[in-house]
Amino acid sequence: MVLAGNDAMKKKRLPRDARRIALKRAFLVSGWLALAAFSAMGMMLKSGTRALTLQGLPVELIFRSLQPGEAILAVLKDNPPVRQVILKVRDHKYVLGGAGKGAPPFALIGIDVAAKSEPLSLGVVEEKTDGTITGAEEELPVEPKEFPRRRFVVDEAMLNPPPQEQVRVAREGDLIQSVFDIFTPEWLGTGNFISPLPGREPFPNFGQIRIYNKTRQSVHAGVDIAAPWGAPTLASNAGRVVLASHLYLSGKTVIIDHGRGVFTFYCHFSKLLVKRGDWVKKGQAIAKVGNTGRSTGPHLHWAVRILDVRVDPFSLVCLPLE
Ligand SMILES: [Zn+2]
Repeated sequence: MVLAGNDAMKKKRLPRDARRIALKRAFLVSGWLALAAFSAMGMMLKSGTRALTLQGLPVELIFRSLQPGEAILAVLKDNPPVRQVILKVRDHKYVLGGAGKGAPPFALIGIDVAAKSEPLSLGVVEEKTDGTITGAEEELPVEPKEFPRRRFVVDEAMLNPPPQEQVRVAREGDLIQSVFDIFTPEWLGTGNFISPLPGREPFPNFGQIRIYNKTRQSVHAGVDIAAPWGAPTLASNAGRVVLASHLYLSGKTVIIDHGRGVFTFYCHFSKLLVKRGDWVKKGQAIAKVGNTGRSTGPHLHWAVRILDVRVDPFSLVCLPLE
């Protein structure tokens, strides 16, 4: 949907011969009703998603909602006659499509689960085939979201690993972070993301604020899906296994790099079926459900990182990447 005529968003074009890039700050402050009335055009939208075309820019955003914890698909629309389009999200730049560049015509971006409702800043720089360069910056409003709170009373020993294990926990935390810091420029996925346990309903506990013994607070930055012990768990999309290890807190864990800063994380397995460095296909069994690490029953904890931003895996599953 094009928010044509929405003068809340203002953008100036540079003269055709301008070689310099100018950034014009634009604010989109309304248009939510119009968004809800989206009618199918361009690429097929999955149910539950909405699309927003940035006025005058060749980029369309598709999302479930613009809220904390949501993934967003930014896609180059209508094959514009461009040499390249660069999408800037925070301090990261993505090249989208363009003639002969080999870059995919899309990027996945996200709003962190713990983000407040500060606007999402997007910059777009468009280099046309005639050499003209135009640029704009948009500020998209992020709607606030209240996540449920849950209090837990647990054995202090469960919150505090024994001293001899604390070094291990810290080291493994650093290891996981170093994996999420990898940026593979190519897209390794094939089509839409799928649930790793198809047909099983996840608990509605993404983003849950957990308060332990009234003192310790953490955000549950994934979803839990209950399944019987040993149930095969599938790779949500194609990619490369960048971690397959038995860790103290998350137990037997797999992380898959799908490229372009997108990772899926799966844990508490009883048995791993892949090893680090393996290439996996979408739907390939990677491990068997279990109860290893800090877990109280057989289940899968499934999480997604997009450039270090934590999003609800099911907000990614509903995006149309086919
Ligand atoms: Zn969990």
